[in-house]
Amino acid sequence: MKFILVLRFGEIFLKGKNRHFFKSILRQNLLKALEGIPSELIVYHGRYIVRTDHLDEAVCACSKIFGLTSISPSISFDKNIEAAGEAALSLVRHTENIKSFKVIVNRSDKSFPMKSPEIAYEIGGLIHMTENIPVDLHNPGHVIELEIGPDICFVSALRIAGPGGLPVGVSGSVELLLSAGIDSPVAGWMMMKRGALINATTFYSPPWVGEESLEKAQMLCKTLKKWQPNNPMKLTVVKYGEAQRILRKCRPGKLAVILYRRLMLRVAAQVAANNGAKALVTGESLGQVASQTLENMIAINQASPMLVLRPLVAFDKSDTISIAKNIDTFDISILPHQDSCTLFMPEAPETKARLVDVIRAEENVDMDAMVAELIEKSSVIEIE
Ligand code: ATP
Ligand code: MG
Repeated sequence: MKFILVLRFGEIFLKGKNRHFFKSILRQNLLKALEGIPSELIVYHGRYIVRTDHLDEAVCACSKIFGLTSISPSISFDKNIEAAGEAALSLVRHTENIKSFKVIVNRSDKSFPMKSPEIAYEIGGLIHMTENIPVDLHNPGHVIELEIGPDICFVSALRIAGPGGLPVGVSGSVELLLSAGIDSPVAGWMMMKRGALINATTFYSPPWVGEESLEKAQMLCKTLKKWQPNNPMKLTVVKYGEAQRILRKCRPGKLAVILYRRLMLRVAAQVAANNGAKALVTGESLGQVASQTLENMIAINQASPMLVLRPLVAFDKSDTISIAKNIDTFDISILPHQDSCTLFMPEAPETKARLVDVIRAEENVDMDAMVAELIEKSSVIEIE
């Protein structure tokens, strides 16, 4: 009798031609996440099984692997009904708060001498008699799942929800514009969930903005990196204060934030191209703040030579916050910092920018030279 983990992955992504590619990426991600935890990963009838004595650590590592739909801590047993009973009892004793239960059996090894309903009856009776827990076939508190397979037999009482999505890496890579706020880390995570690897670029304006916003960006990257265990992550740091000062010379008035954002997109697109990324990602959400009206988003977007993905565009702030809490970025994001874009900010920023005005305001700046200089002076932090 041994503890194992049963991992299930989504069927949908396995239907197409990419099946083998997706599965191999999922497997590599799992192996990397389990590195350092003594364990063995085996493929078993459209699922993975992890043999390990370090169950809690393994559950924790697997819970950040996109593509997994559920995770069941289980006990394996020798192929006979007495061993099945012992394993089921042991599992019930290890599982908290079982108010009622039913047993379901999957007997894929048809040579096993008892049929599924007989096994369910036998094991259900044993649990009920020994532990005094009521059976409830219609609305059970726990479903005890018993599997009698050709090579392995196991029993489990829980299906812990996996993160779902696609294995990170199958969609290529994207460049995340990462501020120290709540939204952009969540936007990055949403893209990872769709299989995209991320690198991040942050704009930071010393001496006007203190070190803390850069430290926060690094902490956020570290937290996000756990979701792409098998791939490196870079944080490109662009010192932005001087550029903002130059943009002020254009006398942009109410358009200042639009100009800062447009330059950010141009620089980030260059970083993205250097990193082999196919798109930019921002945490913008329609109507959330003055710079995020449709008119302003159009004016900002026009400066980007690359596709800009905005996974939070239709999210309420409360939706974003609840994801941020689940993925452990919220507590980092709410640490105090000063935002680069609120630097040199007009008192009443434009909410309906017109592209002609924006382009006219930029006329006297050599944008290409400014982008080249910002890239030249940027630095890269490798996230561990
Ligand atoms: P966040 O919570 O992500 O900071 P926000 O609601 O504060 O977003 P804005 O400040 O308007 O909204 O920023 C919109 C998006 O622009 C951010 O989600 C981020 O992708 C990008 N961005 C803003 N400031 C920076 C910065 N200093 N460095 C990198 N990207 C930034
Ligand atoms: Mg912000």
